[in-house]
Amino acid sequence: NEDISVATKFIRYGANDFIKRPFTNEEFAVRVSVNLELIELFRQSKETASKDFLTGLYNRRFFFESGNPIFEKTKRKGQPLSVIMLDIDNFKAINDKYGHDIGDAAIQEVGTLLNIFLRNSDLVARFGGEEFCIIMEDISIEDIENRLESIREVFEKNIVCRENISFSYTISVGVAYGLYDTLDEMIQASDKALYEAKHFGRNRVVINKNL
Ligand code: GH3
Ligand code: MG
Ligand code: MG
Repeated sequence: NEDISVATKFIRYGANDFIKRPFTNEEFAVRVSVNLELIELFRQSKETASKDFLTGLYNRRFFFESGNPIFEKTKRKGQPLSVIMLDIDNFKAINDKYGHDIGDAAIQEVGTLLNIFLRNSDLVARFGGEEFCIIMEDISIEDIENRLESIREVFEKNIVCRENISFSYTISVGVAYGLYDTLDEMIQASDKALYEAKHFGRNRVVINKNL
């Protein structure tokens, strides 16, 4: 359009840019590429805001942002949901013995293994330090028991090698499975189960069921 007031309207309603006629090919190309760069910048900043720098997993903030709608959806359908809290056992000892960088490598390894052994549809986040939280939908209690037990075993047998140091560690897992009132309540229940797993000797999976 040749009318500049149309441009104002376009931009007010959400357009990124407006090219007034007549324009040259070069002007057109430059504007398109500037806008593409902007899109990439938005994508990057969105990713930075939702991901954890060390592991590349989602962060706590993103976890709640997408976890709450998942919780509401399954609750509405009356389907069971599972929230899983996973924590490295005696992690302080790894930091103390090998240093913080190797401790970081141990944390990164959790991300790598969870990406391999969980489904694409599972929501995995680093919750804090060496603690991870996972939401799994559409899974039976038997499947969740088997899957988490085999993941626990994967960690037990896994050897991490970094900078001429090899070491291994175990994980404890607490699960809330079933129907709960809120996502917060599920997180608390999984935390309680994790506490029990630690209390009963670590390197184990404890499931809190509410069916
Ligand atoms: P438990 O089996 O009971 O879980 O024992 P733990 O030693 O793993 O427990 P605790 O939660 O007390 O230890 C967590 C430690 O993790 C404390 C903190 O110094 C360390 N930590 C937290 N964030 C990071 C991090 O990003 N990198 C490294 N290397 N260490 C971290
Ligand atoms: Mg720990
Ligand atoms: Mg911890």
